[in-house]
Amino acid sequence: MINHTLVINCGSSSLKFALINTVDHRATVTGLAEKLGLPDACITFKQNGQKVELTLAQGNHTGAMKAILSYLDERELTTSVTAIGHRVVHGGETFKQSTLIDDSVIATIEDCARLAPLHNPAHLLGIRTAQSCFPGLPQVAVFDTAFHQSMPQHAYLYAVPMALYREHGVRRYGFHGTSHRFVTAEAARMLGKPLADTAFVCAHLGNGASVAAVLGGNSMDTSMGLTPLEGLVMGSRSGDVDPGLFGYLASATGMSTAAITDLLNKQSGLLGLSELSSDCRELEQAASEGHAGALIALEVFSYRLAKQIAAMTVALGRLDAVLFTGGIGENSALLRGNVIRQLGFLGLTLDDAANLAACRGHSGVITRVDSPVAALVVNTNEELMIALDTAALCQQPV
Ligand code: ADP
Repeated sequence: MINHTLVINCGSSSLKFALINTVDHRATVTGLAEKLGLPDACITFKQNGQKVELTLAQGNHTGAMKAILSYLDERELTTSVTAIGHRVVHGGETFKQSTLIDDSVIATIEDCARLAPLHNPAHLLGIRTAQSCFPGLPQVAVFDTAFHQSMPQHAYLYAVPMALYREHGVRRYGFHGTSHRFVTAEAARMLGKPLADTAFVCAHLGNGASVAAVLGGNSMDTSMGLTPLEGLVMGSRSGDVDPGLFGYLASATGMSTAAITDLLNKQSGLLGLSELSSDCRELEQAASEGHAGALIALEVFSYRLAKQIAAMTVALGRLDAVLFTGGIGENSALLRGNVIRQLGFLGLTLDDAANLAACRGHSGVITRVDSPVAALVVNTNEELMIALDTAALCQQPV
């Protein structure tokens, strides 16, 4: 029988999952439970192009996990699940790689919740629920922060009193590590180079966005920091602002720190600039019809991205390729084109036709063959990366 790894990404009101075949690495079933904790909680399963949607009688995480279990039972798939892999956002400085979950790992993830109060408690809920619904199965935690633990001190320290680092863990951690790791390994394979010989700047551009400087497969720097708010312009997050903004807004408007943090996370970025939408595709459509807000939002997004990519080359000392991934990176020829044109001085020359042809499912090189530095579209697959780590730690065939 074919074995599967169940990959779980648990949020406070959602549970995303994928059942990954450990032999061909394809997803046999994927799904999403949403609105957990609300009366209209529901779950969707996708298998072989078919979609099944159910309302959840027990509309919480346990109810969602039980619904997954009975869906798998009905299709005689439950016994094929040999391990469970969980996405965990924050592993602090403790977790430098994925790890098998035991009581002490759970305690450390709990401790890291002070750094990710919205995410880690939800992941713990997912882990505990999976433990009770799938007793006896090995479970693995795969951390968004782990890949960036190779950053040197000069890249991860903020220039604030060192006591804040020692006593409160104030430093840059970086996120999207699972995607950056998958995509850089994939790009090395696509270019036919050993990963150890590569110098990439990887741009993961989804609703959240970050770039990472990856040298020989090791993260040397990244644009996100203590929290996922730092760095690039994102869907509704501001990215870098002057930290003086907090004091200025507090005295100018009387807003609390929590309200300002919320504004920077949820009302800023593409949404704040365009006054229209946080969704890149919608903004491209509006921009093509001359919407001034959409035009400036996309322009700021591209400029800030190009600037960050150029800055990341300092961490590498050289540059082989710029990699685009995530919903925007894989699909927006417009933004990729804008960014690559701004980076011409680094040795990138766009191949317009290849750029227009590249999208999700169609990865490849989008610079001209004579371009000294390449740019690639690479389809990310965080679920597969989690499944591969899980299988490796549980010593299954991969
Ligand atoms: P998340 O970070 O939530 O996983 P995704 O990686 O799916 O998000 O990225 C979502 C973003 O990708 C949205 O801004 C969406 O508009 C954008 N996107 C998806 N398809 C396209 C497209 N064809 N053109 C431009 N942007 C796109």
